Amino acid sequence: MSADGVLVVVSGPSGVGKTTLCKNIVARLPDTMFSVSYTTRKPRPGEREGVEYCFVDEARFQDLIREEAFVEWAEVYGHKYGTPKQALVEALHKGINVLLEIDAQGAQQIMERVAGAVYVFVAPPSLDALRNRLCRRDMDSREEIERRLHEASDEIANFKSYHYFVRNDELLQATKELESIILAEQVKTNRLDPEWLVENGLVEPVMMKKSVT
Ligand code: ADP
Ligand code: 5GP
Repeated sequence: MSADGVLVVVSGPSGVGKTTLCKNIVARLPDTMFSVSYTTRKPRPGEREGVEYCFVDEARFQDLIREEAFVEWAEVYGHKYGTPKQALVEALHKGINVLLEIDAQGAQQIMERVAGAVYVFVAPPSLDALRNRLCRRDMDSREEIERRLHEASDEIANFKSYHYFVRNDELLQATKELESIILAEQVKTNRLDPEWLVENGLVEPVMMKKSVT
């Protein structure tokens, strides 16, 4: 129906399962992709350039800010992260849904700058469960984990800034909830191109004009 893709901002505490959920969604929904962010953080073992992130140094990141290449960027846990603008706009115009897995500061910037995005907050069932996930992921030091847990409560308290709240307790259930949100957003009437109705003979052009005016 030639509508733009849905821009889905998925935010929530580090370790809550955002990457896991988004990977599930990309595997389940056609025409849905991840946006690959730029970061000044060093790659973790197994992370690949251009897949999980584009890894750049501070000078290159500053160049990209000056070139206005980011739709949003923020400093998170001591490193800079930014969402590239061009790939995002191109994908949405092709009708591809784009998942942005970004922190709360980034979500706030998108709210201020981009119309029509859908905001999903992913929450853990408890802070203990979140600690377990961060430990099991085994990617961060003990101090780093405590720092991320400390910030989690503040982020959760701000849940009302989002359209949807998904509790990632049982992974399949949370995946289904996120999938349902995207499917429902895709069929909202305000996303429908009225021309499609005419082109497919569902309404006469003259009727279309009446309903528009
Ligand atoms: P985030 O992207 O939010 O930082 P990840 O997707 O990397 O989080 O998940 C952190 C850890 O939690 C991973 O080891 C992942 O396998 C695990 N995890 C994700 N969702 C669940 C869940 N529903 N139940 C248990 N463990 C989970
Ligand atoms: P990690 O280092 O664990 O991959 O990510 C740390 C945090 O940075 C997570 O909360 C993640 O959502 C956030 N993040 C990743 N990419 C971006 C981005 O492009 N912009 C912003 N604002 N946050 C991001």
